Amino acid sequence: MSAPSQSGSELTLTTPIQYVTGVGPRRVEAYARLGITIARDLFYFFPRDYQDLTQLSGVGDLEDETQATMLGTIEDVSSRSIGPRRSILEVTLKAEDGVFTAIWFNQPFLEKRFTTDSTLLVSGKFRLRNGRWEVTHPHNEYVESDEESVVGRLLPVYPLTEGIRQGHLRATMRKVLEACLDEVDEVIPDHLLKEWKIVGIREALAGIHLPTSHEELKAARERLVYQELLLLQLGLGLRRGMRASVSTAPSLESTAKIDARIRRRFPFALTEGQNRAIADLTEDLVHTHPMNRLLQGDVGSGKTVVALYATLLAVAHGYQVAIMAPTEVLARQHARVFGEFLAKSRVRTELLIGGMGKSQHELVVAELAQGAIDVVIGTHALVQPDIEFENLGLVIIDEQHKFGVRQRAGLKDAGPHYLVMTATPIPRTVTMTLFGDLDVTTLTDAPPGRQPIHTYLPSDNERVRWWEFFNQQIMEGRQGYVVAPLIEDSELWDVASLNRVYEELSNGVLSDRRIAMLHGRLSAREKESVMQDFYSGKTEVLISTTVIEVGVDVPNASLMAIEGAERFGLAQLHQLRGRVGRGKYPGYCALFGDLSQEATRERLEAFTQTTNGFELAELDFANRGPGDLFGTRQHGMPPLRIADLIRDSATVERAKLDADRLLEGDPGLAEDSHRLIRERVLLRYGRVLQLGDVG
Ligand code: ADP
Ligand code: MG
Repeated sequence: MSAPSQSGSELTLTTPIQYVTGVGPRRVEAYARLGITIARDLFYFFPRDYQDLTQLSGVGDLEDETQATMLGTIEDVSSRSIGPRRSILEVTLKAEDGVFTAIWFNQPFLEKRFTTDSTLLVSGKFRLRNGRWEVTHPHNEYVESDEESVVGRLLPVYPLTEGIRQGHLRATMRKVLEACLDEVDEVIPDHLLKEWKIVGIREALAGIHLPTSHEELKAARERLVYQELLLLQLGLGLRRGMRASVSTAPSLESTAKIDARIRRRFPFALTEGQNRAIADLTEDLVHTHPMNRLLQGDVGSGKTVVALYATLLAVAHGYQVAIMAPTEVLARQHARVFGEFLAKSRVRTELLIGGMGKSQHELVVAELAQGAIDVVIGTHALVQPDIEFENLGLVIIDEQHKFGVRQRAGLKDAGPHYLVMTATPIPRTVTMTLFGDLDVTTLTDAPPGRQPIHTYLPSDNERVRWWEFFNQQIMEGRQGYVVAPLIEDSELWDVASLNRVYEELSNGVLSDRRIAMLHGRLSAREKESVMQDFYSGKTEVLISTTVIEVGVDVPNASLMAIEGAERFGLAQLHQLRGRVGRGKYPGYCALFGDLSQEATRERLEAFTQTTNGFELAELDFANRGPGDLFGTRQHGMPPLRIADLIRDSATVERAKLDADRLLEGDPGLAEDSHRLIRERVLLRYGRVLQLGDVG
């Protein structure tokens, strides 16, 4: 390989970034932190925002008491005291056709922020005072220009890292665009560009990095969002195709005889949703390529029965089943529920969790390897390297968003069928993208006879009444939960802790009740005994952290109070609330917390208005984005660079349809006309989706 030239004229898309004039070896590491190692990487490093200099006013255009945006060079900064703890900071700026003054009261520390001769973009309401134009407490930002005039432009603002300044990045981007834009190939097939009337790649890259108008920027963004989502869907589609071509899982046919035998185990008729879900599963399980399905359904929609059906189908064919729950409490509960359904059957079910005795643990591990155990239910203890199965046919993972991707992969590599269940409904655009390698079944109905849950947001005055009601209900035989976000009081958070709530309630209104505490600092044995006492009714009130969030099922519990409710997402509150109203009694849930923020109050009020988990998940999603909610960060997908799953939801659907169409005609994207797009898909998603051997 010949040494790359340093002269800008020979800059190509694959030139290492350090050979771009102005970058040099000094900044290589900083660029690497941004994911930029060659010139082309810059093109797909998108601005996070823009400074809008298209609507600038000059001093001559200003009107009294009117909003305006001005660009000025700082001429002078002065600050003086105007009384006790009162000060005034004046920054004099020079615009093209005159001067104006920006003023801040009582914020002397701001003085350091402003240095003379730098350029500042200022917007606010301007006033004429004694012949001088002033603006008080304006919005302001520095403009780092890479060229003579920035007036009339939309300046990209890039996410930065230490060692790289905005102006430098802009200048480098401009240089590389000028030298290499003509080299960039169009990867999107022509008919799609025409169909959606979207701009070509060169126009789009110029438009996103050097827009001259809002229209240009919008067209560029639209194109790049579509491209990103299309590539992702193609990657997912290629992966699906690969999975369909391997046969590492057993064919588990649900014959009429097996089906009847399984259904005899259920003491009730299945809901339509359950029957449809079972149809999806049995269709998957006949094939020898591994099922990879997500079963989602609101709390109490009856997912367990569906899981049990699949389990018994695998067992009927002589295969073992592993069921993984996110907590020991939940693993034990699953074991108990399965045990009840399977009473007097020959199916052998065992529990495998970290908190069990060593010899018992070893015994279960040995029997799993021998095939003596049909169904093993456990926590991540199930994916430790010492665990072997004789013939694992099906893996079921409950609440998969609680698991890290690695743990998931651990079991997946074994190649059996794979079912994940979640009670946290996942918005459609998320299942289509970040969870896009899963087929999805949704339980939309619920078993008959579910009790309503009433939700309240009591005012301070109503607080006493709520606790009296709570106490009264318990005296009538019900049980209740009190949830708090922290175990101990903290200096950082002013929120009722578990300990504080326990003190207050046990010395106050609930002094005659039998109360226990449950939290993550208890040992496995302690947790088990606390839960056991609550299941049996010995404990009337359980004061708990969110460890009870998922799945805990005590039908006699009808009361729930949540402290620090503002700390929780709606999906999480919904899970917590789902612990009550599970038996023959209606549920009552009250939320307490800091409601001083209007947005918080609105969010929690919306929560009292609906018990539909899907609606709440969408609301949460719109408020907080997908980030922490669905474990998407753990999920291992590379973050989207420009698409926004909320804002661009329509494009998600479109890209999925287009990808499906392309792959239908050309399953491996092997045709010559698809060579470029295929290369791009592999470049971006090849590693993470393990597409190495496509084609
Ligand atoms: P999920 O796991 O989806 O939250 P479960 O599977 O625990 O819900 O079911 C909730 C409750 O409803 C359980 O007590 C279960 O036994 C019961 N159940 C499930 N399916 C039915 C049905 N078809 N008819 C009546 N009760 C059902
Ligand atoms: Mg469940």
